[in-house]
Amino acid sequence: MRIVLATHNPHKVAEFQQIVAKTRPDLEVVAYDGPEPVEDGVTFAENALIKARAASAHTGLAALADDSGICVDVLGGSPGVFSAYWAGQRKDAAANLELLLDQLRDIADPHRAAHFNSTIALVTPDGQEHVVVGNWPGRLAHQASGGGGFGYDPIFIPDGQQAGAERTVGDFTAEEKQAQSHRARAFAELVPLLVGL
Ligand code: IMP
Repeated sequence: MRIVLATHNPHKVAEFQQIVAKTRPDLEVVAYDGPEPVEDGVTFAENALIKARAASAHTGLAALADDSGICVDVLGGSPGVFSAYWAGQRKDAAANLELLLDQLRDIADPHRAAHFNSTIALVTPDGQEHVVVGNWPGRLAHQASGGGGFGYDPIFIPDGQQAGAERTVGDFTAEEKQAQSHRARAFAELVPLLVGL
C-alpha cells in the first residue's frame, strides 16, 4: 500500500521512511510533490491537517503530514508553530537557533525546559481524519553541539540522560534519535490507525 507524505523536508522524509521500515515494512512512503497549501493554522494540528488534506486531495492517496517544532516553557511554548521561521520568513535554521540561544542567554538550567512536538495528521481519500501527537521533553543547551539531525537538534538536550554525560540531539546518531524522538512517539500512536486503513 502507498501513502503520501506531505513534506518537502528531506530530513523528515528520511526519518519517516526509517520509522515505517521498522514498524510497517509493507507500507510504501512516497514524498508529495504537488502544490503547497498556505499553512495559516495557529496550532500544530491545524497546520498538519491543512497539509494532509491538500496532499490527499491532490494524489487520491491516504496522506500523512507532520507539523512540528520546539516549545520552550519560559517563552510560553514559543517558538512552537513558528519554529521554522523564528528569525524571519526566510526559514534559516542557523539564524533560528542563534536567536533562541540569544533570547535565553541569561536563563539558568532549571528554567530552560523545552520539548519537541510532532503532530501528525492522517487524512484518507474517503475523508477520515486523525491527529496524533508525540512530545520529546528536555531542555535547551547553552551552546550548539553536534552536526547531526537538523533544525534545533544541536541545542536540544533530551531528558533521561546520565548526569555529566548529557548530549544534544546534534550529537546523537540517527538511530538514537529515531528510537526516542517526538516524531517516533507520534508515529507509534499512528500505527494502529494505519493498520485500519
Ligand atoms: P514544519 O516543517 O513547518 O513542521 O516546521 C518544523 C520546524 O520545527 C523545523 O523547521 C525545525 O526548525 C523544527 N523541528 C521540527 N522537528 C525537528 C527535529 O526533529 N529536530 C530539530 N528541529 C525540528
